Amino acid sequence: ASINEYYDIAFKVMLLGDSAVGKTCLLVRFKDGAFLGGNFIATVGIDFRNKVVDVDNLKVKLQIWDTAGQERFRSVTHAYYRDAQALLLLYDITNKPSFDNIRAWLTEIHEYAQKDVVIMLLGNKSDMAAERVVKTEEGEKLAKEYGVPFMETSAKTGVNVELAFLAIAKELKHRA
Ligand code: GDP
Ligand code: MG
Repeated sequence: ASINEYYDIAFKVMLLGDSAVGKTCLLVRFKDGAFLGGNFIATVGIDFRNKVVDVDNLKVKLQIWDTAGQERFRSVTHAYYRDAQALLLLYDITNKPSFDNIRAWLTEIHEYAQKDVVIMLLGNKSDMAAERVVKTEEGEKLAKEYGVPFMETSAKTGVNVELAFLAIAKELKHRA
């Protein structure tokens, strides 16, 4: 894809969630189809990546912003996601505190994000079945309570990664 890749409509998407839940890896997986293990990008993060996806014959450009170093609750400035049209909120299925913090994230989001922002809840690291501490049903229940869609993803294996971003693109296109 060239820098000037054609698109019909563009949206700003932001990845949110506690540190180490897999935000950067999810973005790299979606953009490049690769998994970078270890801590290489964990501390660095990336700013944003563009990817154009097809939704009903329309080219939808997602400009996806990563967050690095600002993940700690309340240190992500409100201005940071005020202009985002979609928010992907991640937790790690092997990390209970990252799941418990989702409520705080959602409270903050509902206060400061755009009123019509598209939100999706993602339970990442679904490949780590042996270390799982958050049941799929717990994620589903929380998502239902807040009226947002939910999926379990793996940036490592790629499971549901494309699907999650496509669902976001579809919803954004329908609302536009
Ligand atoms: P971030 O701080 O939310 O950006 O998290 P990172 O993307 O840097 O990932 C944190 C750590 O979790 C790294 O060591 C990754 O290799 C690992 N990781 C991220 N996603 C997955 C996943 O889906 N499965 C597994 N097994 N490890 C993952
Ligand atoms: Mg990161």
